[in-house]
Amino acid sequence: MPLRAALPLVFQAAAIAIALLLPAFVGANSYALFVATQLGIYVIAAIGLNLLAGYAGQVSLGHAAFVAIGAYSVALLTVDHHWSFWAAAALGMVLAAGLGMLAVLPAFRLNTWYFAFITLAFALVFEKMIVEWRWLTKGFAGVVGVPPPSAFGFEFGPRPLYFTVVLVTVIAFILVRNVVHSRFGCAFVAVRDVEPAALAVGASPQLAKLTAFVISAALAGIAGAFFAVQKTVVTPDDFTADFSIFFLLTVVLGGLGTLWGPIIGALVFFLIPELLAGLQSWRMLIYGGLLLGLMLFAPHGLFGALRQGWRRFAPQAATPVLAAERAEHPPIAGLPLQVSGLRKRFGGVLALDAVDFHAPAGSCCAIVGPNGSGKTTLLNLASGYYVPDAGSVKIGRVEMLGSSAPRIATRGVGRTFQTPRLVADLSALDNVMLGAYTRERANLLSIALRLPSARAEAHRLREEALGFLHFVGVADRAETEAGEIPHGQQRLVEIARAMMGGARLILLDEPAAGLSMSELERLERLIARICELGATIVIVEHHLDLVANIASHVTVLDRGTVLAAGKPAEVFKDERVMRAYMGERALKTGAPA
Ligand code: ADP
Ligand code: MG
Repeated sequence: MPLRAALPLVFQAAAIAIALLLPAFVGANSYALFVATQLGIYVIAAIGLNLLAGYAGQVSLGHAAFVAIGAYSVALLTVDHHWSFWAAAALGMVLAAGLGMLAVLPAFRLNTWYFAFITLAFALVFEKMIVEWRWLTKGFAGVVGVPPPSAFGFEFGPRPLYFTVVLVTVIAFILVRNVVHSRFGCAFVAVRDVEPAALAVGASPQLAKLTAFVISAALAGIAGAFFAVQKTVVTPDDFTADFSIFFLLTVVLGGLGTLWGPIIGALVFFLIPELLAGLQSWRMLIYGGLLLGLMLFAPHGLFGALRQGWRRFAPQAATPVLAAERAEHPPIAGLPLQVSGLRKRFGGVLALDAVDFHAPAGSCCAIVGPNGSGKTTLLNLASGYYVPDAGSVKIGRVEMLGSSAPRIATRGVGRTFQTPRLVADLSALDNVMLGAYTRERANLLSIALRLPSARAEAHRLREEALGFLHFVGVADRAETEAGEIPHGQQRLVEIARAMMGGARLILLDEPAAGLSMSELERLERLIARICELGATIVIVEHHLDLVANIASHVTVLDRGTVLAAGKPAEVFKDERVMRAYMGERALKTGAPA
């Protein structure tokens, strides 16, 4: 096994060995076992918070409230109504996810800051409610005498409780890891870092954020359930805003968006004050200092720093030998695009005015024009990124005006961007696989449980994605993080992603910008090949030679209107086109740019 892949295994084995052996060295009623159990409980919630804040990029400043819902559910139902712990814990999870969802739903349409504020507000209100609703929660006094869980007439003492918490922690870790490595996890990261990429593969950012939130709130709920039985007393003081912030801090410090970050964070920042009891009052100051230091020196937290050190020590192994090269690609049934009377205004700028444009099924049509003439805007309107002020956009025979970008993508429209929009933290292969986001059938549950059907499908899609990387000629970069791939090749990966999505109409925004001569020739062959397969291609491009070679039809835009349209050879001879377009470029530089 390559040295590099050994790190996670070493971690897993060490963590499980320590966790399982600990009770053999400390007494059943010892403080050490109590603290270790509590640590496990924190880790469960931290794993969830990390999925939300680290992967989906939604910072929750009120996670204590979701822990509190789980804790109070168990405390009240077991003490007052004699429910079994397990039933109460399950309900606590559902309530944490459900009530949380109601509270934060409005925030998902808005940006990350609103989400942070809404969760904070929810936690503050919830804290007050626990105090005020004395008839339910017993106010400041709290609920006392929470009984330990029991099963088959056997009551869980501290040791069985500890092992149960360890088991739940391991299960939570595995489920979250499976999700993180799936299309859902990739979509979370896309939503966090490059929303346009998520839209382009048909993933709804709102749904992705909501999914991450529900999982995270449910984990907070189950952590709360164990919290109640472990402490046997639940009071409002346990769930203050301080706690939420401390909690977020541990995840950030441990390594936001890394699988081991929350575990290391909880371990270090929960245990240190326990070990150095005398330093309790300095706690916040120490954390503040550490946070500052880490922000400066280890932006990916403690685990990130550790991982980076490891990677330097154990350099990446060569890319594994790929599956058989994709010799043949099945034909693509191209979708026609018909745009008419399209108009879009940005404040004082009329970006497009009464533009008509037609790309017949299976054709390669080009759009050219000076900078700022509205080319990108046309692509953005056709793919649902902007809503036009007037006009019609027909894809196939269906009017798509006003449809969202994910819906249009799902109908078979793929696109690339003027500035490549790959998810920098994901490998090229994962980026291409993300293209199949809406094609993949396995649901969240079967992915979290790694059911055989889900695994088989993921394997098949992986092979297919490798095939597309081969097809566009960057298979040797499959395992490289997209952010480290040269620009020119990033564009090719974007094309592979669009094809992976089963695109039948592909919109390319200046794919040749910044390419070398040899790359340019490769791109030309690639586009011609995709067109031969039957896909419809709409290409915005400044390289007029490229356009003349591959496009059957060209439309010239100038200041938002169509200046000329027709066969490239005729259009490029048109004097108005020469003046408007080539004028600024060719006449100055002596050659078409
Ligand atoms: P091109 O791709 O042909 O260079 P664009 O379609 O990007 O041109 O832009 C056309 C005009 O619309 C420009 O004047 C640009 O400043 C304006 N524009 C484009 N997108 C936006 C936006 N999101 N907000 C405001 N103005 C925009
Ligand atoms: Mg543009």
